[in-house]
Amino acid sequence: MRSEVVDGLRALVVGGSLAGLTSALALARIGAQVTVVERAAGRRSGAALAAHPADLEEVIGIEAAAVVLDRLAGPGHRPHGSQPVAWEDLRDGLAQAVLADPSISLLEGRQVVSVGEDERAVWARTDDGTEHRAHVLIGADGHRSLVRRYVAPERPDADFAGYLLWVGIAREHDLDLHGSWPAGLDIQSSGDHVLLGYPLPGPDGSLRPGMRRLGWAWYDAGRTELLVSTGAVRDGVVRHSIRASDVSELIYRELPDRARGAWSVPWSAAITDSARRRAITATPIAEYVPDRLVRGRAALVGNAAHVPTPMTGSGFAAALDDAAALGEALRAVTPSQVPDALDSYERDRLGPARRLVQSGQSFSRSFARG
Ligand SMILES: Cc1cc2nc3c(=O)[nH]c(=O)nc-3n(C[C@H](O)[C@H](O)[C@H](O)COP(=O)(O)OP(=O)(O)OC[C@H]3O[C@@H](n4cnc5c(N)ncnc54)[C@H](O)[C@@H]3O)c2cc1C
Repeated sequence: MRSEVVDGLRALVVGGSLAGLTSALALARIGAQVTVVERAAGRRSGAALAAHPADLEEVIGIEAAAVVLDRLAGPGHRPHGSQPVAWEDLRDGLAQAVLADPSISLLEGRQVVSVGEDERAVWARTDDGTEHRAHVLIGADGHRSLVRRYVAPERPDADFAGYLLWVGIAREHDLDLHGSWPAGLDIQSSGDHVLLGYPLPGPDGSLRPGMRRLGWAWYDAGRTELLVSTGAVRDGVVRHSIRASDVSELIYRELPDRARGAWSVPWSAAITDSARRRAITATPIAEYVPDRLVRGRAALVGNAAHVPTPMTGSGFAAALDDAAALGEALRAVTPSQVPDALDSYERDRLGPARRLVQSGQSFSRSFARG
């Protein structure tokens, strides 16, 4: 329903990943005209996460959720709520829902380089020199958020949590599993290493044997030297992930050897296959407990707002909660009421966001010392 027209509210979302796209859809749902600016054209990630159909429907609406769910499970099917889905399938589904919505424009390949506001509007300047003006600006630009520098200049950076995550996805038909298939999420530990393994549907949502995939995420606290020498972590701050093409040949040989000694068969086979295809990424884990989420007409959502360790398994759920709270706070407000509405968003979300990140920090502290 788009009946609650918000007097031509214009919203600008910086970052077109999971948090930015869900926020854009939630804002379009309350009648806002939304522009999403995303610097990358086509991002990939080996990560996987749970996307509960009912939560998606509640936040972005049944119509938009149907587009996403069709992408995840095939037309007319729904993924099982607790079953992980591949990050890129979810991102593709959300992007399709955004492209189908006439009140959202998605500008890809443009980077926001500065943001600010005056009495009447908030603005973001992109690297092509364009100034985009709106009544409200949403920072959905991830753990190294530029918008956070504006909202929380006293503490703009997320801290390195002391460990990295190797992640990869292998296709079932490339593995020799003799029919054995994991029933669900499997968590294993070996010394100071932890592995999360999860069955995934095929790229077309198929659950048919032979078409499925195995995702894995390997927590490793012994790689600080690698992260510092590659510049992925500098001065205690995570700067970037290490792409599959930048993982060294030595590591592509070492990881399968270690996997065979540490992890049981489906996972060691999946890791060996990912290494053979040179398709493993390394993500240094960051954490950020927010003190604020809002300044004037700008608000943060997703990893720009709060960065929990992936061990919480709740980063996307929190981004959905942010989008829902934003939609609720901005429902039926006029442009001049935006700063007050965002204060109410912050009152709603700051406590839960802080508690989520803090819940993961106890794992991080003991694991990184490990
Ligand atoms: C390895 C890994 C495993 C994870 N596992 C889970 C899990 O099991 N369960 C779970 O719920 N969550 C998990 N998460 C977290 C989850 O993916 C995120 O919390 C969630 O996707 C929200 O991310 P985001 O959209 O806020 O940020 P991001 O995905 O980082 O997106 C930020 C976007 O902003 C863009 N951007 C940045 N700066 C600019 C700029 N200046 N101008 C324009 N665009 C810009 C970037 O290109 C990017 O597309 C995991 C994360 C990782 C890294």
